Amino acid sequence: MNIPFLDLGRLNAPYMDEIKPALLRVASSGRYIGGEEVAGFESRLAGYTGRRYAIGVSNGLDALRLILEGYKCLGLMADNDEVIVPANTYIATILAIETAGLRPVLVEPSPVTLNIDSGRIEAAITPRTRAIMTVHLYGRVAWDTTMSAIADKYGLLVIEDNAQAIGSVSQLPGRSGSLMAGGLGDAAAFSFYPTKNLGALGDAGAVATDDEDLARAVRALANYGSDRRYHNIYRGYNCRLDPMQAAVLSAKLPGLDRNNSRRREIAAIYDSTITNPIVRLHRVDPQSLTNYHQYVISVEGDREAFRSRLAEAGVATDIHYAVPPHLQPCYKDKFPGEYPLTEKIAREVVSLPIAPYLTDDEAGYVASVINTCL
Ligand SMILES: *Cc1c(COP(=O)(O)O)cnc(C)c1O
Repeated sequence: MNIPFLDLGRLNAPYMDEIKPALLRVASSGRYIGGEEVAGFESRLAGYTGRRYAIGVSNGLDALRLILEGYKCLGLMADNDEVIVPANTYIATILAIETAGLRPVLVEPSPVTLNIDSGRIEAAITPRTRAIMTVHLYGRVAWDTTMSAIADKYGLLVIEDNAQAIGSVSQLPGRSGSLMAGGLGDAAAFSFYPTKNLGALGDAGAVATDDEDLARAVRALANYGSDRRYHNIYRGYNCRLDPMQAAVLSAKLPGLDRNNSRRREIAAIYDSTITNPIVRLHRVDPQSLTNYHQYVISVEGDREAFRSRLAEAGVATDIHYAVPPHLQPCYKDKFPGEYPLTEKIAREVVSLPIAPYLTDDEAGYVASVINTCL
């Protein structure tokens, strides 16, 4: 068998009957910026996430940055304020904080959940801390009673980097009662990058919140800072969601839950079949529902040799992420702290194919090949 890590053509093929007329509809509409397609997707996304407001934007990085800039416009954050963030996140989370003029404060993850270790957050708080940017890495919800209590105690905003977790469900209700990832904190950023669980055919993202003032600020900032035509209240950006992508996302959203359940079925095959002693599984608490954006294992030993053996057997794998943000060349000397857990995770993790189109036989094959790579 030959199993690519992710075949986007195969992933999107079942949607073509909906995608093609949606694209034609936009092409012949004469409306290529904003309009019904964008508004329609925004209200579907708000409904899906249990949020009052959703604002379509250009991509996930911009969504994160616009939330932070939005809070600055509202006077809730100022230059050099600190935002707590997991050290092992994708670099976009850190870039958003930094490019918004704020300071990322890196906190180590738990080696079990691979998410921020809530027990380490309080020690990282200073008088300048304004927010916790929680990242639902690999689709696992990073929200618990410890984080919630600390946010309440210190009056911190909770911002979700929900780029990876659309459709995941929390056990613990969020700050306004929703259980959906992206509905837990004060504001959430979504990415619809093609490889995400809800993927566009290009770049796309969104911000979701219940806060009317923040929603208004983000919408203005994403559109040159204008609240109405030729009236600019902020020095803004052009970060609008493309109507073509909005139409594609509306066509794909109804299939999201089905795809996420299929990912959970494939994960269950891996959980029950992989027995290789050099492989550590990161089983998810059976009560919580992850969308399995990635299925990540840890390999003790020679990871590259392990991956080559898999590749020889036709199984492609990936690594999320091999170099943590604090070790990237662009952040040389910027984060002088020590992050041994983050670095250990970066050395050990391997992501297995988990696309919803995989058959049981293909998933069984991946697991059986893994079991022979001793
Ligand atoms: C994908 C991703 C982003 C960035 O989203 P883009 O749409 O690619 O800009 C941010 N954070 C995390 C955790 C991501 O996985």
